Amino acid sequence: MLIGNKKIGEPSMSKRDLYEVLGVSRDASERDIKKAYKRLAMKYHPDRNQEADASDKFKEVKEAYEVLTDPQKKQAYDQYGHAAFEQGGMGGGGGFGGGGGFEDMFGDVFGDIFGGGRRGGPQRAQRGADLRYNMELSLEEAVRGCEKEINISTLTECEVCDGSGAKAGSSSQTCGTCHGHGQVQMRQGFFAVQQTCPTCNGRGQIIKDPCGACHGEGRKNKSKVLNVKIPAGVDTGDRIRLNGEGEAGERGAPAGDLYVQVHLKDHHIFERDGNNLHCEVPVSFTLAALGGEVEVPTLDGRFKLKVPAEMQTGRMFRMRGKGVKSVRGGATGDLICKLVVETPVKLSSRQKELLRELEESFGGEEASQKHKPKSDGFFNGVKKFFDDLTS
Ligand SMILES: [Zn+2]
Ligand SMILES: [Zn+2]
Repeated sequence: MLIGNKKIGEPSMSKRDLYEVLGVSRDASERDIKKAYKRLAMKYHPDRNQEADASDKFKEVKEAYEVLTDPQKKQAYDQYGHAAFEQGGMGGGGGFGGGGGFEDMFGDVFGDIFGGGRRGGPQRAQRGADLRYNMELSLEEAVRGCEKEINISTLTECEVCDGSGAKAGSSSQTCGTCHGHGQVQMRQGFFAVQQTCPTCNGRGQIIKDPCGACHGEGRKNKSKVLNVKIPAGVDTGDRIRLNGEGEAGERGAPAGDLYVQVHLKDHHIFERDGNNLHCEVPVSFTLAALGGEVEVPTLDGRFKLKVPAEMQTGRMFRMRGKGVKSVRGGATGDLICKLVVETPVKLSSRQKELLRELEESFGGEEASQKHKPKSDGFFNGVKKFFDDLTS
């Protein structure tokens, strides 16, 4: 039976009577049990006791203590003895017996009794949290870089006490209990144990006269306006870090950072793909047939592109260096223009007539194929398809 990784119901390492283990009588009070336990835990604690079986004895004592101070387990033990725990009869409540490494055991036992870890030095006041701001940019702004004013609501340093948390004229004082260490030594018999200072909660400093504006926190909720410099070449997904512009820390602790997350808005002409820009340019079918020049847009202004005669629709033209210069340096991207031939619409009867005339000038169906390179290939393919089908 597995409950949260710990096997329970395994036979106990020890079959000794639990009262005997702690050296107390069956009608001992909880206080007596605790007292006996503390005494034995100190005696067998492996930091103090170098004997080979000390850790086993320590474990045995801990088990006895756990059962005899838990009313439900104690009752079961009093009634059934060790058998109460051998069939997994006790649900939940963590493991009795096997399982659990020594470290784990050390953690919960000494955590309970002596409170707190064994770290030295004062606990630093909490650093402020990092913040994220989502910023939408136009393509032009992202490509050229810009400066943006943003308004964020965050915890800022209290201006009344300058973040100290102490009332004007007073200041925080070194804690008298721990003398600024944040930890105090507690004597437990032979043991000297480090404990988080209860007076200052480990900070090492106390504020006798808290600042009224921030209630001693040293920070307040406030909105602030920031000027953010966007470097040229940023793209969707880039983050700009503003050091120390996140939440203010507690009582003068360092502030968090602000991350400006960049997102590019759709552009009506260009589509960005990394450092390249894509754009579709419509071309009249006359121009496509005869060749000439077409004006294409670039980020630096208009640009004349030479269109060869007999150009088919969908042809791509690459303009080197007319794309985006990356914020990370390296070569500037290209502008890739796709020229799309337009079918003329809203034709007058005269124009229709001219088109029919043009079509007739190509000759009969067979003869006209040479003027239509795609149709030529396509209709030959269709012919072959039906020929293969009938043969
Ligand atoms: Zn204040
Ligand atoms: Zn203190």
